[in-house]
Amino acid sequence: MFANGEEFKAAFLKKLEMMHGISFSESTKREQFQTLGTMVRECVSSDWIKTNEQYRTLRQKQVYYLSIEFLLGRLLRQNLMNLGIEDAVRNGLDSLGIDLDELEENEADAGLGNGGLGRLAACFLDSLASQGMPGHGCGIRYKYGLFEQKIIEGYQVELPEQWLRHGHVWEVRKADASVQIPYWGRVESYWENGRLVFRHLDAETVTAVPYDMPVIGYHTDTVNTLRLWTAEPSRYMDSGDVLKYKKETEMISEFLYPDDTHDEGKILRLKQQYLLVAASLKSILASYKKQNGSLLDLHNHVAIHINDTHPALAVPELMRVLMDEEGLGWDEAWHITWHTLSYTNHTTLSEALERWPVHIFQPLLPRVYMIVKEINERFCHSLWEKYPGDWKRIESMSVIAQEEVRMAPLAIIGSHSVNGVAKLHTEILKEREMRLFSQEFPDRFNNKTNGITHRRWLLKANPSLSSLVSESIGEDWIEDTKELERLLKFKEDNGFLEELSRIKAVNKERLAKRILEKNGIAVDTHSIFDVQVKRLHAYKRQLLNILHIMYLYNRMKEDSGFEFFPLTFIFGAKASPGYYFAKKVIKLINTVAEKVNTDPQVNDRLKVVFLENYRVSLAEEIFPASDVSEQISTASKEASGTGNMKFMMNGALTVGTLDGANVEITELVGRENIFLFGLTAEEVMEYQKNGGYYSHEYYHHDKRIRQVTDQLINGFFPDTENEFTAIYDSLLSHNDQYFVYRDFASYADTHERIGKCYSDKESWRQMSLFNIAKSGYFSSDRTIKEYAGQIWNISSHAKK
Ligand SMILES: *Cc1c(COP(=O)(O)O)cnc(C)c1O
Repeated sequence: MFANGEEFKAAFLKKLEMMHGISFSESTKREQFQTLGTMVRECVSSDWIKTNEQYRTLRQKQVYYLSIEFLLGRLLRQNLMNLGIEDAVRNGLDSLGIDLDELEENEADAGLGNGGLGRLAACFLDSLASQGMPGHGCGIRYKYGLFEQKIIEGYQVELPEQWLRHGHVWEVRKADASVQIPYWGRVESYWENGRLVFRHLDAETVTAVPYDMPVIGYHTDTVNTLRLWTAEPSRYMDSGDVLKYKKETEMISEFLYPDDTHDEGKILRLKQQYLLVAASLKSILASYKKQNGSLLDLHNHVAIHINDTHPALAVPELMRVLMDEEGLGWDEAWHITWHTLSYTNHTTLSEALERWPVHIFQPLLPRVYMIVKEINERFCHSLWEKYPGDWKRIESMSVIAQEEVRMAPLAIIGSHSVNGVAKLHTEILKEREMRLFSQEFPDRFNNKTNGITHRRWLLKANPSLSSLVSESIGEDWIEDTKELERLLKFKEDNGFLEELSRIKAVNKERLAKRILEKNGIAVDTHSIFDVQVKRLHAYKRQLLNILHIMYLYNRMKEDSGFEFFPLTFIFGAKASPGYYFAKKVIKLINTVAEKVNTDPQVNDRLKVVFLENYRVSLAEEIFPASDVSEQISTASKEASGTGNMKFMMNGALTVGTLDGANVEITELVGRENIFLFGLTAEEVMEYQKNGGYYSHEYYHHDKRIRQVTDQLINGFFPDTENEFTAIYDSLLSHNDQYFVYRDFASYADTHERIGKCYSDKESWRQMSLFNIAKSGYFSSDRTIKEYAGQIWNISSHAKK
């Protein structure tokens, strides 16, 4: 593409002038960034076109990954790296006096997601393209991404994330591929040539306009597509309140819902979901028909994946298109539908299971509702034949019950595959949450343990560690991460281990610099960097972490002989704006930080830092600089986690419960290379079923617990009257639903062990090495291979 820095430099200067009508010396960093981004996108356009042509002519089976979230982060450096032109570009920019890293700071994070689920979708796109697989993303182009978090006086304040303010260099608007999406209105049916046909009348129509982004694979010609939809007013609107219509329409793709764990039951959310599904299916089928394929054969050429239940409307919508628009009968349409669709479940938290009141669903999507009803009647009928009289079973499996449409049953019934995201999670689905369905469809249920793209989270985020690895075992690991295991031969090699800790130290220095700049806190880079970064949620138990820090502080104040290795606790977490409890925990963390960091009696050995606005680009700096990874959810609650994998790959040791993918981390590294504590999932579920847990007993019997709990409300923190009552009540009045007290002692003991281990540098380094070496399993390339082979039945096309 650019053979060398010189060639790049000439092209860059020309492009800058053409794009911005400005000379280099006058240009801003942002203009320079936009120039570079545009050049890169234009460079891949011929490969992009070629990839699409190849898919068409070879009639390769395509997969479309429907997701309401894609948490992409920045794309410049990833694209340069994948294209293999980062060095040429860096050199060319250098000779102009531009620092690539500085330029990168001008790229806004594409934050079209909340956390793990959206980031998984982004990692999957990278793995599909990098392995030359025909897989594309379909999502929504929210005008505002996940809110920007500011911390003001310890409180979270949300600002709108205007990531599109300066345009988005990676996208191409495809207005000619727009489609019409109908809402509201009524359905009329009549007989025509011996068939009952349906017509959707008086609908309010919205135009869905796609924006395409190239998804560039690592060192391959493959360029796949991420298609994001926006809602725009339709030209066909000619009467009624035009302004109101325009506003309501634009609202549909304005905001990402800042919470993926509570179903807010909003019409707007359902409108978003239908926009995503209806528009994507229209464009998928249009492109399939161009190949002259028979619709009866659709499932052999197209796989459509439903990422969590948000796009589960794909089940009735595909039925609708096949019947109402293509004229197929029910049975044919149904056969095609469930053979085409597959579904991933991401959570068993009951508050996250989507249900829509019929009184909202039916008027908004009248024809789709009719089909859901028919799907349900046929399904319930088949159950009745099999289990006559078993009303209880039928009611609990029904798609429509108690005046609600339940999206999970809809997705299960309408898919040929249902997968969980880690072994334990899938077991819980099969044995508990979805037991009746797995009895009914035993062949559909399967596990696909999540993964992360090692290209972003190791190669890009931690270039020095990547170089050390490549120098030591060659570069094969980049194509096949299982090769990382070959690092094990260095476990007695002092030179290698020294180098490993030197790299960690440099990464810690960099993070420390950021902390000093952002928070004004000087942290000791020789201390243990103990890190918990993830969304703030009760089940993730940031509260356990901060209460333990309060205990450490108390202990230090009371016992001058208390010896421990210096500690820096680092947090990053956004709370959903309406999540009162979560916001109080943020305030508590900041309150404790203030107290600890300003107390000269302790602050040379203990620091607490809350980094604001946790997001992908910040995460990339944090993982490489971490010593300890906090993965402390109440067992059974975290479906998989992916942060845990990013830490592991960067050599941090996990302190965790046996939850989600922590179970598999443990299997890989062995119990001697991870710090496990707390209740098991089985024990938690046993308590939940049969009771027997009384938090006040722990409060009364454990002095440490009593002291930190009382400090929440007794004025220990100045000017915080009533501030933490909700937290206090959650622990005592509400009987500590997430077993914070129950796991406290075990957590504190484990931390003591961690401190001791860390002081034995040699063995810590070996444990760290072990974690890196075994982390290859968690590459999303492995995950995607499993989806491709076992669910989608797609194969990769020839690589370069
Ligand atoms: C990986 C990642 C997550 C998911 O973290 P978990 O610890 O698995 O919850 C959330 N947000 C960002 C920005 C991430 O990179």
